Amino acid sequence: MEFKNRDEEVAFLKKLWTKVPTPCPECGFEYLEHLHKKAKKSDTEWKCPNCGKVFRTINMLMELPEE
Ligand SMILES: [Zn+2]
Repeated sequence: MEFKNRDEEVAFLKKLWTKVPTPCPECGFEYLEHLHKKAKKSDTEWKCPNCGKVFRTINMLMELPEE
């Protein structure tokens, strides 16, 4: 997965966390869904229902490049 820059990746994470419908950065599918639908506490992992790409937002946050 490639984001053009740090701001773009941060914007993507914020959208997920605020439950804004967010298209898949990999394939462009229109939304991502929770990886663990029944585990309400675990809403930090998301999955694209189309291409199957998993987004672990905590990991992504940890790996963000420095500004
Ligand atoms: Zn996808």
